[in-house]
Amino acid sequence: MSWTISSKSLAAESLLLEESIYSLANGYLGVRGNFEEGYQQSYDSIRGTYINAFYEQVEIPYGEKLFGFPSTQQKIVNMIDSQTIEILFGEDEERFSVFDGEVLSYERKLHLDKGYSERIIHWKSPKGREVKIHFTRLVSFENRELFSINLKVEPITYFGQVKIVSVVDGNVTNYVNDHDPRVGSSHARLLHTIDSTIEKGYAMVVNGTTNSKLKTACVTSYHYESEGKIKDEIKEAAVVTSIDFTLSQPITVEKRNIYVDTVRHGNEFIQSAIDIQNQLKGVTFQELLLEQEKYVQNFWAHADIQIYGDEKVQEGIRFNLYHLHQAAGRDSFSNISAKGLSGEGYEGHYFWDTEIYMLPVFIMTKPEIARQLLLFRYSLLEHARNRAKEMGHTKGALFPWRTISGGECSSYFPAGTAQYHISADIAYSFIQYYLATNDEQFFMKYAAEVLFETARLWMDTGHFTGEYFKIDAVTGPDEYTAVVNNNYYTNLMAKYNLEWAVKAFEKLQKELPEQKEVLVNKIGLEKTEALFWRNAANRMYLPYDEERKINAQDDSFLQKDIWDFENTPKENYPLLLHYHPLTLYRYQVCKQADTVLAHFLIEDGTDEETIKNSYHYYENITTHDSSLSSCIFSIMGAKIGDIQKAYEYFIETARLDLDNTHGNTKDGLHMANMGGTWLAIVFGFAGLRIKESGLFLNPELPNAWDGYECSLQYHGRSIKLKVEKSVTSIEVKGNRLDVYIYGKRYELVENRPVLIETQRFIGEIRQ
Ligand code: BGC
Repeated sequence: MSWTISSKSLAAESLLLEESIYSLANGYLGVRGNFEEGYQQSYDSIRGTYINAFYEQVEIPYGEKLFGFPSTQQKIVNMIDSQTIEILFGEDEERFSVFDGEVLSYERKLHLDKGYSERIIHWKSPKGREVKIHFTRLVSFENRELFSINLKVEPITYFGQVKIVSVVDGNVTNYVNDHDPRVGSSHARLLHTIDSTIEKGYAMVVNGTTNSKLKTACVTSYHYESEGKIKDEIKEAAVVTSIDFTLSQPITVEKRNIYVDTVRHGNEFIQSAIDIQNQLKGVTFQELLLEQEKYVQNFWAHADIQIYGDEKVQEGIRFNLYHLHQAAGRDSFSNISAKGLSGEGYEGHYFWDTEIYMLPVFIMTKPEIARQLLLFRYSLLEHARNRAKEMGHTKGALFPWRTISGGECSSYFPAGTAQYHISADIAYSFIQYYLATNDEQFFMKYAAEVLFETARLWMDTGHFTGEYFKIDAVTGPDEYTAVVNNNYYTNLMAKYNLEWAVKAFEKLQKELPEQKEVLVNKIGLEKTEALFWRNAANRMYLPYDEERKINAQDDSFLQKDIWDFENTPKENYPLLLHYHPLTLYRYQVCKQADTVLAHFLIEDGTDEETIKNSYHYYENITTHDSSLSSCIFSIMGAKIGDIQKAYEYFIETARLDLDNTHGNTKDGLHMANMGGTWLAIVFGFAGLRIKESGLFLNPELPNAWDGYECSLQYHGRSIKLKVEKSVTSIEVKGNRLDVYIYGKRYELVENRPVLIETQRFIGEIRQ
């Protein structure tokens, strides 16, 4: 069961959610789970197809536009729609719809182990025609441009004429909502149709954007075994193809859509689509399914987490991991947007979500995808250098808070550009990748430059004052507090960033002096800069409150009144939809983990008591209005030995989208949370930490489970960890390796699993 997500509901609200839940993607192309035949008029639907990083550039309307505010922003574009297939029965063309006639049985499924979705309907029309209809969909991992729909119509009592009417439609708009800041407003129409035609026997629609000047085409072919009569009709922005059959035995039609764009395929994009169609000509749909299954199985071999004794959680984890894998861009143009390719929420933008919440999953399971995602950030360095200049810095790189192709897309700077921590987060992820893979070459070639340029940003943003180095006027992760001095999270991450910039500098100097010279010349690095980095790191100010014995979120946070939680009605959450930002800024109230997150990412150097006290303090004032919060409270609950709390927070993350607990799954899936589920198990319950001194584990088991199992990639080896009530076992594939479990060193040798007694930490900080 846990490999298949299924639903039998035809209720309007669930169908809208299911458009996200049953979306299919491969990192390049994403298609929402819309019904081919459409819905009833009264039903809301967001019909969507997306290509990662295919965007339109639109103006940002401001009442008052101040210096340095971005004038334009990028938006993901709803692509040419190839989902529509109608089925008409008889001379009278009675139309198939699950909302008419009688649905004798209905089920839709998403096969997480095979990589496709299907809908199976046993239907009796209002005029009594009884048939079985089966749609199977695939967005191919092996052929990234391919989205295929296979339709099977089986006669039960009806034998006669059937017409399949299929559309490739260029007349598409984006979804807008003026009342929710998490969804785009205005600019619904981003694509115009350049051509709709039949080309070399294929139905083809070509669309383009006006400002970003990108083009895309959908080139479609039809494959069917039975005798069918095909007819194409070219409309202004669409190609409509009808195929007539006589239904005496089951008929199948495969609609094979190839999506190309000028971002990846250049000016020859149309020819590329035709070439791909031609290459796939001899391949059957069954073969495509098998190829997909093989690919997906390989993914699970590295990424699966097994939970013993909790089927619901198991389902949630696999669902989350599967979608995360679907969302990850795998080429140099793309990353992972906040909603993946499952919807238009946050306008397809890439945030720090990738580095802090999703990248660790790939680093530890599919490092080659992590590498690609890091290379994407590296490719934005020039943009980041320019943005730093625009923001008044003399040196360094400031990464955009939200972006698609590198430009800052945030119009509300207090909760956008001011989140300078994204630059440290990106630097952090390069370090984590290095620590987990030991990829020296990558570190020297790419990480070093990112570390140097981000270190320079901190030097230029902060200042020495008295014995400290301080950073003013930034916003930390918690968006209910903005533009503050000395945000603890930012300062701690900047410190780490600076320390590692020094390490990288010294390493290059010692091991690759020539390469160091090339880099020094490339970015004009001066001799003394690394000394300043070290000095600033050593003297970084980290706010601490003596009275409460906690790290203060920033200089002024603890002076404010605490938000009146008791008198805040339930329906006023999330607070951002009910209170002006200034109201929120005046109180101690957190949207999400901030200081607590800092204690997770960089635990060394902070004492146990501070970590524990801070956890309890911030827990009381955090609303978790952001889906990026609960997983961190789960991880740190485990860290401070409150396994029950860790479990309760974990449950919030595991089925957040499946159960729509944040109420906006219709706009797309919460990718950071999906990564967060994995983090909560591996970094939370299993207590994984990757440090310079090695790999550390502190496995613990929530009471509700009989056990769990996960796989990790580390320094070119594969590690299997299995935690059960009394015994924890750990095994390596590859060269021998030392790991630290419960603080003790163990030598792992292939084929010789190490067995250890599973420990319990009650109310203790785990080291
Ligand atoms: C969170 C941010 C996050 C963004 C995109 C916001 O609600 O506060 O931390 O980056 O969503 O997921």
